Amino acid sequence: SVKESSNTSTTVCCYCGVGCGIVVNKERNGTVTVVGDQEHPVNKGMLCSKGLNLQYTVNDKSDRLLYPQMRYNKSMPMQQVSWDEALDRTAAVFKTFIDKYGPDSVAFYASGQCLTEEYYVVNKLMKGFIGSNNLDTNSRLCMSSAVAAYKIALGEDSVPICYDDIELADCFFIAGGNPAWCHPILWRRVEAHKAANPNVKIIVVDPRITDTCAIADLHLPINPGTDITLNHAIGRLLIENGDIDIDFITNHAEGFEQYSAIVFERTLAESAQICGLSESSIQQAAKYIGDAKGFITMWTMGLNQSAIGVNKNLSLINLNLITGHIGKPGSGPFSLTGQPNAMGGREVGGLANLLPAHRELSNPVHREEVQKFWGGSIIQPKPGLTATEMFEALNDGRLKGIWIMCTNPLTSLPNVRLAEEALKKAKFVVVQEISNKPETLAYADVILPAAAWAEKEGTMTNSERRISYLNKIIEPPGEALPDSEIICRFARKMGYKGFDFENAAAIYAEHVKLTAKTTIDISGLSHAVIKENKTVQWPYKKKGRPGGTSRLFIDKAFYTPSKKARISAVPDTLTSERPDDDYPFILTTGRIRDQWHTMSKTGKVNKLNQHYKQAFVEIHPADAARLQINETDIVTISSRRGEVRVQAKLSAQIKRGVVFLPMHWGKILNNDLNRANNITNDLVDPISKEPDFKYCAVNVKRY
Ligand code: SF4
Repeated sequence: SVKESSNTSTTVCCYCGVGCGIVVNKERNGTVTVVGDQEHPVNKGMLCSKGLNLQYTVNDKSDRLLYPQMRYNKSMPMQQVSWDEALDRTAAVFKTFIDKYGPDSVAFYASGQCLTEEYYVVNKLMKGFIGSNNLDTNSRLCMSSAVAAYKIALGEDSVPICYDDIELADCFFIAGGNPAWCHPILWRRVEAHKAANPNVKIIVVDPRITDTCAIADLHLPINPGTDITLNHAIGRLLIENGDIDIDFITNHAEGFEQYSAIVFERTLAESAQICGLSESSIQQAAKYIGDAKGFITMWTMGLNQSAIGVNKNLSLINLNLITGHIGKPGSGPFSLTGQPNAMGGREVGGLANLLPAHRELSNPVHREEVQKFWGGSIIQPKPGLTATEMFEALNDGRLKGIWIMCTNPLTSLPNVRLAEEALKKAKFVVVQEISNKPETLAYADVILPAAAWAEKEGTMTNSERRISYLNKIIEPPGEALPDSEIICRFARKMGYKGFDFENAAAIYAEHVKLTAKTTIDISGLSHAVIKENKTVQWPYKKKGRPGGTSRLFIDKAFYTPSKKARISAVPDTLTSERPDDDYPFILTTGRIRDQWHTMSKTGKVNKLNQHYKQAFVEIHPADAARLQINETDIVTISSRRGEVRVQAKLSAQIKRGVVFLPMHWGKILNNDLNRANNITNDLVDPISKEPDFKYCAVNVKRY
């Protein structure tokens, strides 16, 4: 049993949305060591390579920003200043912009790695006091298509199931994800379940043969961009085979007739041809699903990061709805969150179109409720700028100032050279960061040093709505401060009331009050209650059951006005940039096993750099042979937006005509040719505004 002491504390991993518990030991010399928390319900002591090596990122302070820095104009060098000087000047510049150009001339771009308390205060500051909704986060690049689809299908952004459903399911449909690498500890549970129950069926849909396919009964190497066609074809077969739940469809869902009409528009042969699959493999998938007593669909970026991401999500959720596999143990749609606290950010309304507790900016009643509670400015109904829109607005001058917090957009945004141009044109850039590595720092007018993981307290919510508490274990280096403290100090400099929080627990106490009587009601929670229960799944009302609510919709009452789930008849039209004679390949991007995002933490760990030491492009040997490309040759991959130059990695595990680039590498010294996002497309989904990272047209040549 873990006994918290001055040397031993529990916390949660700061990487993926699985949310593994970690025990941190503080050594006498001030360094820390980490092990998995055996008492944490998520991981029961296990950690993946990234979590296991967290201690190195904490102990190595060589790249840490230690004090605030500022320059009075872009031609001057940065100089060390006090916190007061940095925040006074920032407040003065923000006030000038707001007075002269209006509140929409400034923006905050934050992160799915922020703690819930940090999200809460920056959202309150921007929407409730500055009076603009220009607060978006890199969760826009990650989960926003799933958020929009849940809202359409279920009435709210609510993940219905929990990890314990894994052991109760007998069929898994994993689309657009490689959880064996990207959600490894969760995947260990699926592997163990399959090993103990060989009859459990696993279907993996991916243009690449990934490690996730190792335990698949059926791998569908789909043509990129054709998921909706596949899901509709399976839907049609389920209807034809009588494997749908008529009672659920009749009493708890709406839209089936339109859905049925659309899925019968294509024959199986047509769909198979579009998807690049055999008819029999689609029939097999439908048979596995039709036979299942517990059916879980799992997905992540392959469906979300798409110009048709919301429709892809809806077409997959439809499979759960028409089979009635939702609201019961072992069944449901399950979006795997990319970042550790994207879910917590959604709870506090930390996206440009949301308000706290899943309230909507577009709803006047919701705006009034929040405005009354905060007592600040009038909350504007117009959605703010989303992630990519912020950089467009900097480019065309609508936006004058941007505050970038806990994220590295110059590696992670699509068509990233546009973002670089945008930061060059910005009149004022604030970068709130832990590390001196991110490329954004070169464009900053003010640099604010932030406390990192283990140096501050707060909460995060994982993929299954599970809220965990993160302890402050060590002091931040130099003058670095927790992000929420920085935002509150700035808000006070702006003259706003309501930012005098004593600590993170006080921020959390205010946040939970705003959730009362909403569908994510956690009004019974506090830091103390979370610590006492170890972790809690929302909702958790006052006098909630210990541990919270593991499953939603058990009563089949959805959050739509009719209380029925919506089956959506979505078109399967692909709007992405298609290959042509000049750019004949399809590019898809993604993660590798041992790196996290833009490598500002994992890139510091030698062990993690051994897996892949440098960026590469994966290409099918037949395509490589045609282009006279050999293993490790340097190749140029170009699109209409730019170039990447990396080593070739020949692999029969990718489809012909498709190439894969890892998304982690950014600019190294002055060389930006490792950066996948030089060439990705900034086209976005019209509803979620999530970019099309997984599909654009490129050319490949030996350098
Ligand atoms: Fe951290 Fe995710 Fe690995 Fe768990 S699975 S240790 S949360 S990176």
